[in-house]
Amino acid sequence: MVIDGHNDLVLHAWRGEPSLHLDLDVARRVGFAGGFFALYIPSPPAVHPREIPYAMPLPDPVPYEAAAPLAEELFATLCALPVRRATSTADFVEGEIAAIVHMEGAEAIRSDLANLGDWYERGLRSIGLVWSRPNAFAEGVPFEFPASPDTGPGLTEAGRALVGACNELGILVDCSHLNEAGFWDVAALTSAPLVATHSNAHALCPATRNLTDAQLDAIRDAGGIAGVNFAVSFLREDGRNAPSETGIDEIVRHVVYLVERMGVDHVGFGSDFDGAEVPPELGGVGGLPRLLDALRAAGFGDGELEKITHGNWLRVLGATWR
Ligand code: ZN
Repeated sequence: MVIDGHNDLVLHAWRGEPSLHLDLDVARRVGFAGGFFALYIPSPPAVHPREIPYAMPLPDPVPYEAAAPLAEELFATLCALPVRRATSTADFVEGEIAAIVHMEGAEAIRSDLANLGDWYERGLRSIGLVWSRPNAFAEGVPFEFPASPDTGPGLTEAGRALVGACNELGILVDCSHLNEAGFWDVAALTSAPLVATHSNAHALCPATRNLTDAQLDAIRDAGGIAGVNFAVSFLREDGRNAPSETGIDEIVRHVVYLVERMGVDHVGFGSDFDGAEVPPELGGVGGLPRLLDALRAAGFGDGELEKITHGNWLRVLGATWR
């Protein structure tokens, strides 16, 4: 069974496009039991640069008034998918798919948090404070390579209040896309395990979207988890978005590093299926058995793979949700 930290299937379904990586029938066949399904309010599309180094500007903020109706549409799209919504770890069952309702960027939450409880009632169980742009709560990292994730200010007062309210309700707070100052603010404030749903090791691929060793150590010390992102440009040492030159071994390289740094209890998958280009050798969800074979070949045993594929996510969700 695989539980996964991030996919963008909802965005494709909302646009009426077919899935690139996450065919749900294939997913069921290979033991993909679901995970975080993002509600992502799109910024105007930017072409991911092929040149290295790159430094993309931060997109403009999306105001609440624009984000709220889009989030409704995205949520309705998720509800129409043939998956159950996960609000308890017991919802993850072999052979079925459960979706954690996850906001990737909290733009649809009012800055006074007045509608947070409503969203909780409807099943929201995870919030990434930001996507890679500023909002009322925090600031995301711009896409830059090579560069530190320390790119801007930390949480706003509203952001600090949102972390506290999430802790109280039992909503997971996701630090992927957050800049480093914001990450340390969350680390100091939260009473839940620290989570980065889809970020890799900065030591292996120095993109702003990846986690420094100090951040990895903090996640370990807080009993948290980092989900390994399969996006080519966050895997490769040279940062290039070069799928045809990138194999599954690049994913294995990050899993090995994260396990060596944090221990096997703090590493999971955060595929970014349907949100990024992944190695063609993986292809999509149907390639997960090939990834597991590659991890076995790299020396991981069944007990370790059980933790990486789903056990660690279940532990962190169980410690976070009420
Ligand atoms: Zn993302």
